[in-house]
Amino acid sequence: GTLPPSAASPAATSAAPSTSSPSQVRRYPRPRELCPCSQCGEVFTKADSLEQHQAVRHAVSELGPEDSGRNIVEIIFKSSWQKRDRPICHIDRILKVRNPPRTVARFEAYRDAVRARCRADAAGAGGATRAAADGNELLRFHPAALACELGADGSTSLCASCDDGDADGKSAAAACGVCAAIRHGFAPWAGAHPLGVRTTASSGRAHDVCGAEGPSAAAPGWRAMLVCRVIAGQVRRRDGDGEEGKEEAGPFDSVAGDDAGGAYGVLEELFVANPRAILPCFVVVYRVDVDAQ
Ligand SMILES: [Zn+2]
Ligand SMILES: [Zn+2]
Repeated sequence: GTLPPSAASPAATSAAPSTSSPSQVRRYPRPRELCPCSQCGEVFTKADSLEQHQAVRHAVSELGPEDSGRNIVEIIFKSSWQKRDRPICHIDRILKVRNPPRTVARFEAYRDAVRARCRADAAGAGGATRAAADGNELLRFHPAALACELGADGSTSLCASCDDGDADGKSAAAACGVCAAIRHGFAPWAGAHPLGVRTTASSGRAHDVCGAEGPSAAAPGWRAMLVCRVIAGQVRRRDGDGEEGKEEAGPFDSVAGDDAGGAYGVLEELFVANPRAILPCFVVVYRVDVDAQ
């Protein structure tokens, strides 16, 4: 006899008896592999759906006081904060970004490409460079506005502004810069600077350049900063008066900012043109005394 239409639905697949004759088996869709989420147990029928779920719902995890990673980030943050006349800052939480494997692979592929090119350049110039060794990878700060309570009270989910349907993340970035950067990466509009995505060597500088955006509406007084791995590659330093460097020749992967005389040397600000060169690793949520008033 003929099967009712409902028997062909995926839900009926598991009910298919293994003793069915070949002609009957062919009437069913192929059994799918189920993909359960290791974090919450929710089950997906496609690996892509699971990856998407994890990228949004388990995007971050808070680092506890016993976590050595937390201490390292805190030291980097605080040690590069107090060099100028800044108010005292209080760190509320430090979140680790759980980048999807695909995002990490893309970042590493970019680093390998930069390294290979710089290695070829260095061989021609008769000297090895840092960029040829590891792509000139640096740990940098990126200022971003936080409009949600990411990571508060154990939450691990990006805010609703990152829901699907916003393919390039532009409107998400306008809504919540931190979540958009984690979900969509650092598209050229991030930071809206003509030279590319702005990164800073110090937390203090990142705070200053983010100052205009003010504290978030969702959690008044709390601010956020991303700590990122950045492939600086071949850096174009602009220490002459608009003159091209004498020894350095392109192509360049990043451009040093104008304030070459800053407390942190010529790379206090570094602009990276290719958004693939940046991988967000941690989010520091903090508050400064002046905000609390
Ligand atoms: Zn889950
Ligand atoms: Zn958010």
